[in-house]
Amino acid sequence: MKTTQLLIPTQKEAPNDAQIISHQLMIRAGLISKLASGLYSYLPMGVRVLKKVEAIIREEMDKAGSQEVLMPVTQPAELWQESGRWNEYGPELLRFKDRHGREFCMGPTHEEVITNIAAQYIRSYKQLPMSFYQVQTKFRDEIRPRFGVMRSREFIMKDAYSFHLDQASLQQTYDLMHQTYCKIFDRLGLDYRPVLADSGSIGGDASHEFHVLADSGEDEICFSNESNYAANVEKVAFAKQVQTCRPSAQELEVITKKKTSINDVAQFLSVAPSSCIKTLIVKTSAGFKALALRGDHELNEIKAHNLLGEFELATDEEIKSLDLKKGFIGVKGLGIDLLVDYSASNLCDFVCGANEWDKHLTGVNWQGIEFSEADLRNAVEGDDSPDGKGKLVIKRGIEVGHIFQLGTKYSAAMKANVIGEGGKAVTTTMGCYGIGVTRVIAAAIEQNYDDRGIIFPESIAPFQLVIVPINYNKSTRVKALADDLYQLCLEAGIEVLLDDRKERAGIMFADSELLGIPHRMVLSDTHADNGNVEYKARNAADKIEVKFDDALAFIQAKIN
Ligand code: ATP
Ligand code: MG
Repeated sequence: MKTTQLLIPTQKEAPNDAQIISHQLMIRAGLISKLASGLYSYLPMGVRVLKKVEAIIREEMDKAGSQEVLMPVTQPAELWQESGRWNEYGPELLRFKDRHGREFCMGPTHEEVITNIAAQYIRSYKQLPMSFYQVQTKFRDEIRPRFGVMRSREFIMKDAYSFHLDQASLQQTYDLMHQTYCKIFDRLGLDYRPVLADSGSIGGDASHEFHVLADSGEDEICFSNESNYAANVEKVAFAKQVQTCRPSAQELEVITKKKTSINDVAQFLSVAPSSCIKTLIVKTSAGFKALALRGDHELNEIKAHNLLGEFELATDEEIKSLDLKKGFIGVKGLGIDLLVDYSASNLCDFVCGANEWDKHLTGVNWQGIEFSEADLRNAVEGDDSPDGKGKLVIKRGIEVGHIFQLGTKYSAAMKANVIGEGGKAVTTTMGCYGIGVTRVIAAAIEQNYDDRGIIFPESIAPFQLVIVPINYNKSTRVKALADDLYQLCLEAGIEVLLDDRKERAGIMFADSELLGIPHRMVLSDTHADNGNVEYKARNAADKIEVKFDDALAFIQAKIN
């Protein structure tokens, strides 16, 4: 295509709300345009990239034997009531009524619709296993849409769902999807890691997230420095360790005045936060509970939720009503159940609140205190890896894909049964597999850019080659050569952009670099005098002179 035929609204400045580099560059390169909070239009260059990402995903999903379907974005409430999610799903689910007053939602995901299809059309065990995918728009009314298309409200997802007779069959497809995702992210040119993940509200047992490593990532992932262990920070499970310390101190009450935070107390008493204990009071359906953690650890809400069910932190008023003193709560005489994190229950001679205003206790030990123990905390850098090999390192990641084993959560609720081998009805077992198609583009840019702009991986660049003729509109020789090379490239099936604008060379170079086109050929009278064109790769510093007659073969070799 020719630049003058295209809308490529590049700009020098990024908008103020663009905090991360991919958001800035996607706007500056004219890939996307903001319509409203969390809503973006894809402009022609953005669509070219999107189509490439989608094509790779489709190819690999097809190879994995998954069938493409296309389900409506608009979904009737009845399906969500059947699965139980109409009430479970919070305000991220956009609900509305049609003119007849019937309730609908904009699909944030499609488990309900696909399970409804399976319930209607998959009748016999002989049809299983079977899997479906689609590339479709989702809507999630994110509380804080941000980072451009990284966390938008409307976005494109590749979602896939599989149906099985039993767990063994699900495991096979799950493993195949795991491999397929690796192939997809390899082809997309991403530096990524599959990590063990919490399965969150969708439910089910096994789940992996695929993270693109980037400092701007919203998730924290833990790696062992000695083994393959990798998990979302929230998912790292700790077992009770053997206690290595022995109580030796005398318990003392000390005046700590207005020092209520762990850091202030630790500093005041000249001890490490890791030898202090902090106590949180939470409200559960079974009443108030106290949760004790080491001062340097944070509560893992998912673990707490798994143990306690729905819970929230007690308010100041509620704490007062329990006769506890906020900022000085300890582990003794609380009058409510006490649940202690494994690494806190392993401490000796620790510091905690004295349950009296302005006072803490030092030299405290667990002997004589009634409590139960559990794994309650988030992992921190330097923790022993749960597989017993090495220490944990924490890095930031962008979740671009997620695979889950759903089990029978939806199929049981929505009666997706088949007639089994013995003639009896069997509830199908399900898996689901998502890739954030639009988020992948942003993630790829987070990993591939320099101060001139995007450096697209070859597989998803909007064009493979840009031809930049200098004085295209003045020099008939340059024009003839550029048109010639452009035609040759088109015939060879190369995705080529001819910059036929009446612009200065500097502007044409800057735009193609901002857009991240991997290969560039420059034609000018000077080069033509030597029978040459100039070649430069986007990701290399040096330029090469190539004989005009060899230019096509040269670029073909570069591209393949
Ligand atoms: P997150 O933790 O980032 O909110 P999620 O767990 O809600 O993600 P899934 O329900 O597993 O996401 O959706 C599958 C994929 O869709 C995610 O891995 C991610 O790549 C993408 N995705 C999810 N929410 C958004 C969003 N708001 N904008 C763009 N992509 C998204
Ligand atoms: Mg989410």
